[in-house]
This record gives sequence, C-alpha cells and structure tokens, in this order.
Amino acid sequence: MIKLRSPRDIEKMRRAGALLAKSFVKVFDHVSPGAVTQDLDSVIEEAILQAGAIPAFKGYSGGGTKKFPATTCISVDEEIVHGIPSQRSIKDGQIVGIDAGLKLDGWFSDMACSFLVGEVDKKRQKLWNITREALYAGIEQARPGNYLLDVSGAIQDHVEKSGFGIIRDLVGHGIGQELHEEPQVPNYRQSMKSLKLRSGMTFAIEPMVSIGDWRIKTLRDGWTAITRDRSPAGHFEHTVLVTDGEPLILTRLEDGRDPWDVLGQMYSSLRSKE
Ligand code: MG
Repeated sequence: MIKLRSPRDIEKMRRAGALLAKSFVKVFDHVSPGAVTQDLDSVIEEAILQAGAIPAFKGYSGGGTKKFPATTCISVDEEIVHGIPSQRSIKDGQIVGIDAGLKLDGWFSDMACSFLVGEVDKKRQKLWNITREALYAGIEQARPGNYLLDVSGAIQDHVEKSGFGIIRDLVGHGIGQELHEEPQVPNYRQSMKSLKLRSGMTFAIEPMVSIGDWRIKTLRDGWTAITRDRSPAGHFEHTVLVTDGEPLILTRLEDGRDPWDVLGQMYSSLRSKE
C-alpha cells in the first residue's frame, strides 16, 4: 500500500523540504573551479545540523553492509550519482551533481541538481537544460487519475527526443517517514502495470540523463555510478506531493521559490554578462 499523507504530515514534509532547499542554496556560491568536494559537503551538512535536522545519507546502507560516509553525494562529469565527497577539487568545464537528503521531526526530504562549473561546452549546457526540463515534465504529470507511468513516460520522452540517454538502472522513489519508500519511480516506461496516482502521495522524482548511452556501471568504491561510455551525466530531483490541484514541490524555499529556478537565474545572468 502506498501511504497517503495527512495535512499534518504534509506540513512536516514541507518544513523538511524548505530546510533542505535553504541548505542547498547556501552551496550555490561555492560551486566554482577549484572547490573541494568535501568542503561543498560541509556547507550543506552544517546548514542541516544547525537547524536541528539529520543528514539522511550519512550512514545510509540501502540494505547493504557499506555505509555512505557523507551528507551529500557529489558526482562529477561521467559520474551520474552516489559520488563520495573527498579532497578532489572540481574543474572548469565540468558538470557536477549534488544530491542531499535530510530528516526533520521524523520526515524526510530529498533533492538534487547539477551545477555547471565555470565555462562549460554547449553539450553540457544542453544536458543541464534537458535534465532540468525532464524533471518538470515528470512533475507536471504527478496528478490524481494519472498513472506513475505518465510521470516516467514524460521524462523519457523529453530526454530521448533530444537524443540523450535516460538512465534506467537507477530510479526515483516514494518518500515520507523513510527516505526510500514504495513505489519505485522509473524514468522510463518500465511496464504496463502502473500505480494510479492519488492526492496525498509523495515521491522523489529524479531524472538521471547521459549525453550518450544509458548503461551504467558502479565504481570499486561500491557507490559511485558512472556511465559505461564515460559520457557526462546530469541529475535533478525534487520531493513532490500529488494534490487535487497542481503538483506541489515540497523541496522549495519558505518564500515559495524553487531553488532550481534560483540557480537557472544565476546562470542566465552570468551568461548575459559575457
Ligand atoms: Mg532520491
């Protein structure tokens, strides 16, 4: 059974989402050539801890024996997701995904975005745009009466019509009192049997996109997923509530702004200055 959230649950998830969004925005100015990934992780971790919340990824094992060692996953270029922050620094021209989750007052939120570091080529710019648009194409379908397949299909169509690959082996998920709940939210049309959406359901929707092929492999660290053909990858994610009206993004700032809009505006003002 997929749980439906009460107004009280939703208010708690909204607060968790707003805190995560705020923690993320703090890192925006730090993502630039030369930044050390461990330092980026610390910016978000401190913001989460200072607010009395718990980083959701740190110590997470996903049912396995290995525990994830950091608050964020930071994934550079051909790394898709689950990259481990380290002493490595990011470089001009790279696309860098940061993913973070937290638990506040018993409720989880989860979000991710890709950053463009310094001057990036046209292909990575397009990857950034398409991945971000694919997220919103999916969210747009998160409505009562639709099927989860409509969310998955909208994401897949948007990515594939641009000639990019939609990652299949990693998926979005239900989210609430656990970080990962039923159901899985694939980013492509996986089967004919699909969940009918109802008001009160909450999902983490997270397209992962490759410039090339969608096939992946996992590095020896046991976490980092990369594209098998080593082409750069993008990742955007929001925690979303199905309502009787418009789909509601829970991972947004207290004033209602979507952090990925804030980031988009940052990039377009940078470009107009050139
Ligand atoms: Mg997630």
